[in-house]
Amino acid sequence: MRLNSGRDKPQEACGVVGIYAPGQEVSKLTYNGLLALQHRGQESAGITVADGSLMTTFKEMGLVAQVFNENVLNTLTGDLAIGHVRYSTTGSSVWENAQPIYRHHGSLGVSLGHNGNLVNTMKLAAELAGESERPRDVSNDSDLIAEMIVTSGKATVEEGILDTLPRLQGAFSLVILDDQAVFGARDPYGLRPLVLGSLGAGGYALASETAALDTIGATFIREVEPGELVVVDANGVRSHRYAKATPALCVFEYVYFARPDSILYGKSVQKARYQMGQKLAKESPADADIVIPVPDSGRGAAAGYSHASGLPYVDGFVKNSYVGRTFIQPSQAVRQRGIGAKLNPIAHLIEGNRLVVVDDSIVRGNTTRQIVRMLRHAGAAEVHMRISSPPIKWPCFYGIDTANRDELIGGHQSVEEICAHIEADSLAYLSEEGMIEATEVAAEKLCTACFSSNYPIPVPDEVKVTKNMLERI
Ligand code: SF4
Repeated sequence: MRLNSGRDKPQEACGVVGIYAPGQEVSKLTYNGLLALQHRGQESAGITVADGSLMTTFKEMGLVAQVFNENVLNTLTGDLAIGHVRYSTTGSSVWENAQPIYRHHGSLGVSLGHNGNLVNTMKLAAELAGESERPRDVSNDSDLIAEMIVTSGKATVEEGILDTLPRLQGAFSLVILDDQAVFGARDPYGLRPLVLGSLGAGGYALASETAALDTIGATFIREVEPGELVVVDANGVRSHRYAKATPALCVFEYVYFARPDSILYGKSVQKARYQMGQKLAKESPADADIVIPVPDSGRGAAAGYSHASGLPYVDGFVKNSYVGRTFIQPSQAVRQRGIGAKLNPIAHLIEGNRLVVVDDSIVRGNTTRQIVRMLRHAGAAEVHMRISSPPIKWPCFYGIDTANRDELIGGHQSVEEICAHIEADSLAYLSEEGMIEATEVAAEKLCTACFSSNYPIPVPDEVKVTKNMLERI
């Protein structure tokens, strides 16, 4: 588990964008789409453009605005493009693993961006090594997918993708580019989101979240369906259903990952968070004076808690948004300093008050304890922590870095023990039923495995540790 500049949070794995828009500035559209998805990955950013004959990729470690500037974007000319922001869950955080990935073999060449994580990577890598005459030089599951497509022996990229997708197990929302078309594919469970929008004049956009479509002026058409491959080219949009859909969207998208202004399954993320807060207030009221959020992701739930409880909502923290997420602090001592740099309590609002403090999740607990200590130092009379999701007890194998089970405080401590660890006056979590009801989505259409251990895609025993596994071999 990495810290997010002092925030002890699960880490999203990636965001993707795909643009088909002849005559429009596709690299700038992709750049703006990636900026809107920056929260999904802060380690590297990249764009590939194609002009009908040539594909050009520019990628670098760092945030989108650090990697690209006007001059670079002006050199990336073409009619179609894909883009990617990355947080690594398999493969190290190094330039070689930044995406999009380019692979070619014979007459097939693709650039690929992946959000998710495969669970049969080892098996596929072994199969590929057996089938291919080429030396295996793949270092993560995304490399592997691109390599499988170009070595499929098929005549076209489209056929190569359709040959490859049914062999993949795990979570994947993919954008793929060849010199003529942009492809978007989603795993049969639809664990990670992917949407399609219109740019007008025959142009189309794919993106991880609807907020990215809004940002580039695209009109939402529909979600790419679980088990579907969408192809966008000069003939418009066509669809292949390569597998039966058994939807299980990650519920954590509603709790924390997705932007509040995004829509998933037709439901507002911010409304879901607000309703999580309302339900939390009903399930776990507190004798307190004010409600304050841990910004930013606790805001929606804190507003809902305030409304349902009648306690005033107070922005008791200032968050410094300019503290980057790129530079991940390695030592505990630096982590503790890190949170002070990011969050600062407003003592005049807190002093003497009994607080309900609303956050979306607790991973290890150490950051929450720092927040509680900070509030007491600022004069809080009491601190009642309220968490707008259930305890995280199980690791995620589908592209989210939630830490190992032994590092998850909810995996081995009771709520009372966690309360003592974080030094709060009281602690309560939202129930699993309450969380699901707040999303307004049927429970069977959501993955809740990190809370319930009901993994929708079976996870082979040998896959329990995924990060760096190809590199170790
Ligand atoms: S295990 Fe948790 S974080 Fe992973 S996909 Fe399922 S709900 Fe999301």
